Amino acid sequence: PPEKAVMRENTMPNTTITRTFVLPQPPSNDNDDAKENVIMGADRIVAFSCPRKTMKANNNVLASQSASVARKLSMGPVRVEAVSEKHGKLGSRILVFVRVRPMNKKEKEAASRCCVRVVNRRDVYLTEFAIENDYLRLNRLRGRHFTFDAAFPDSASQQEVYSTSTSELVEAVLQGRNGSVFCYGATGAGKTYTMLGTVENPGVMVLAIKDLFSKIKQRSCDGNHVVHLSYLEVYNETVRDLLSPGRPLVLREDKQGIVAAGLTQYRAYSTDEVMALLQQGNQNRTTEPTRANETSSRSHAILQVVVEYRVRDAAMNIINRVGKLSLIDLAGSERALATDQRTLRSLEGANINRSLLALSSCINALVEGKKHIPYRNSKLTQLLKDSLGGTCNTVMIANISPSNLSFGETQNTVHWADRAKEIRAKVSDAN
Ligand code: ADP
Ligand code: MG
Repeated sequence: PPEKAVMRENTMPNTTITRTFVLPQPPSNDNDDAKENVIMGADRIVAFSCPRKTMKANNNVLASQSASVARKLSMGPVRVEAVSEKHGKLGSRILVFVRVRPMNKKEKEAASRCCVRVVNRRDVYLTEFAIENDYLRLNRLRGRHFTFDAAFPDSASQQEVYSTSTSELVEAVLQGRNGSVFCYGATGAGKTYTMLGTVENPGVMVLAIKDLFSKIKQRSCDGNHVVHLSYLEVYNETVRDLLSPGRPLVLREDKQGIVAAGLTQYRAYSTDEVMALLQQGNQNRTTEPTRANETSSRSHAILQVVVEYRVRDAAMNIINRVGKLSLIDLAGSERALATDQRTLRSLEGANINRSLLALSSCINALVEGKKHIPYRNSKLTQLLKDSLGGTCNTVMIANISPSNLSFGETQNTVHWADRAKEIRAKVSDAN
């Protein structure tokens, strides 16, 4: 098989000794190649030296990008010292966050108690209150601590949630990497608020695109980034285009992976149009027949942001890079609460959201370090095949209500999130 990626020592006139990364040409589709993992995912430059000085590289710049900038500055190759930081050889990486929404009117009026406490930036304390009318258990309380990559209290701003959870993935997409951000939780827990938000308080989807454009602007030296947006829905194992509603889309597998045939690729030039576009798209989400005005709790909305750009490799050939970020407002988790394989399987026959179960199965398989990840089991996981696992970054935001009226759902969501955390734990154990 051809070399996927090689590190090459290079000596050229008028330059220092150089070590440059050579990315595979043509690009390989094989995500599992360890070397490619290291090059594409892991390496950050700590320093690069030009003829007379050693510079400390900007930590946010990945190896391939800095190397090309440095080459431009020094009119030739430069010596690059790169290390694996967070991504290491880990391959799959997942960050898990919990966000508590404020109590709503109904919960306040019912004089419900707050059962979730965000203890510090990372810890959540969940209290189980005795059932009020069960006098034997009246005073008995149980509590449990959970730790996440961050815990957002009800006072956390949209910007704070975005910066902590997703801004790094936007940076990675600009380096040609894929990633995905999910909001998981029961209906009413704050998923759509977190993802889409409102005009006054735009959520992760909008802030990510805003940030993307501002980051592209900062790099105007290469001025060749093209951004495309697609917004689609998976409802009842049917895929629909939310930007151009019509007949269901068929998923096809081709050289680039799974594609939804005929999906609108909206070329975006600025942030201004995006909020309106997404709100319009959300209007097109399937509504539950029984709750005519409510957006369905069973539909998954996926915003795909594809960034395409050209770079030069070490041999100065122009290569095309594509990074894709998928932002997903999942269906309500209340009907798919299982986290272990056995329960999951027994639920599969029932009329339960298949895509949500399949996502849990994929996460379980990733947690267990399985070779085979069952992406094929649902439309959602097929669509996410190139954005979940492998060298991708994954962010889970678990949305919960603070009220004890939703304790069961909150507990399930928090347990699910706690389980998802193990993907990383397992992988780093193996290293
Ligand atoms: P979901 O999409 O999980 O079903 P929503 O995002 O629609 O839930 O949230 C339910 C309600 O709570 C909405 O009216 C929303 O505006 C409000 N809400 C959710 N999270 C927050 C928050 N962090 N701050 C203020 N209001 C919120
Ligand atoms: Mg919603």
